[in-house]
Amino acid sequence: MRFHVMTLFPDMVWNGLNTSITGRAIEKNLFELNVANIRDYSTDKHKHVDDYPYGGGAGMVMQPGPVYDCYQDIVKDMKKKPRVVYMTPQGQVFSQAIAEELSKEEDLIFLCGHYEGIDDRVLDEIVTDYLSIGDYVLTGGELPAMVMIDSISRLLPGVLNNDVSAEYESFQDGLLEYPQYTRPETFRGQKVPEVLLSGHHGNIEKWRREQSLKRTLERRPELLEGAELTKEDKKTLEKWEKSRVNAKKIK
Ligand code: SAM
Repeated sequence: MRFHVMTLFPDMVWNGLNTSITGRAIEKNLFELNVANIRDYSTDKHKHVDDYPYGGGAGMVMQPGPVYDCYQDIVKDMKKKPRVVYMTPQGQVFSQAIAEELSKEEDLIFLCGHYEGIDDRVLDEIVTDYLSIGDYVLTGGELPAMVMIDSISRLLPGVLNNDVSAEYESFQDGLLEYPQYTRPETFRGQKVPEVLLSGHHGNIEKWRREQSLKRTLERRPELLEGAELTKEDKKTLEKWEKSRVNAKKIK
């Protein structure tokens, strides 16, 4: 897979992703990262890429020309038009399901805006997907692009040492992950749940599923509506729900 990032701050993207697990994956050629500087495509002698908004108002807007030329340079040798994702607080909110869908693409272009954003005409021309990382406004699209590339890349074969770990994580089956523990066995008087020390895989799986359901019910109950639940899961949820209601009555 090849990720292409169009940005005014290439060092930020490159330094952010060329570290830790993603950095190792790039080194091993498990995916490619191509970071293009939109400023290199400015035709202005001072390399300006922004201008005042037509109609007035605060801030500056990125001009369409350099963005379009940068895009053309990236796609010039591609056989198929790739998906171009514009980072914007006005987009659909990114999710694990979108990460999975995007992980199947061969090439993905991430377009990062700055200032007040980018002239809409070039967005109309090249963008296929408008995505946000949440309902708040950042100064630029670089962090959102890095967030998305990080989460997509860890779904690619070989990027995580243990492929199973992406499979059992939060959101993978619509639920939050169960609590995790490591050594020492006792920390500040708190013991690791006994079942995890038992070596009984069946009981451990059952405990983990129950904890996943409990955690989702407590922290993100709305996720349960879209989760795949067995009869057993529903019974477990009813049990937790009843004990929560009773606990409230006692208070
Ligand atoms: N004026 C724009 C608006 O109100 O929609 C916001 C522009 S923002 C200051 C500058 C750039 O940051 C945007 O073009 C976008 O690329 C990026 N950005 C800001 N918040 C974002 C978010 N929540 N998700 C994705 N990208 C975001």
